[in-house]
Amino acid sequence: MRVFQTQPAVLESCYRLTVVFLKPVQSLILRSTVLQKSLMFMEQLFKKAVFDCHMCGQCVLHSTGMTCPMTCPKNLRNGPCGGVRNNGNCEIKPEMECVWVSAWERSKKMPVYGSNILGILAPLDQRLQDTSAWVNEFSGKTESIQDEWSN
Ligand code: SF4
Repeated sequence: MRVFQTQPAVLESCYRLTVVFLKPVQSLILRSTVLQKSLMFMEQLFKKAVFDCHMCGQCVLHSTGMTCPMTCPKNLRNGPCGGVRNNGNCEIKPEMECVWVSAWERSKKMPVYGSNILGILAPLDQRLQDTSAWVNEFSGKTESIQDEWSN
């Protein structure tokens, strides 16, 4: 399913649809452990298959060309580092295109969130590892981390 990563505009539409679908029931989700666990299960299932999601709990896909930054061998939340090879590949894994080169190219194909890649992302909060990014989003945890970083 990783082939979908070459279709960032489609993935962006899927993301927007998910927001439309989940937003109206977010308070219900926050009150129900069963719904939270179900959401986390769905995240693990689909995001792992499509994005190689590492369940960081602070999803920034729509700011990174629908490319998971946690697949960068250095786990950079803002990239690229200074080690990108001349062919655009990673210095740690020479056979792999730099995650941030991919993110940049894919962002250009995203009509709505493409420009988000120009923003600076907050550092990763390791305490949210292996939690649901959607639940963290709805509970305001993700936003407060980004706000603290921006101010
Ligand atoms: S940014 Fe985090 S939650 Fe989003 S796909 Fe990557 S590891 Fe998963």
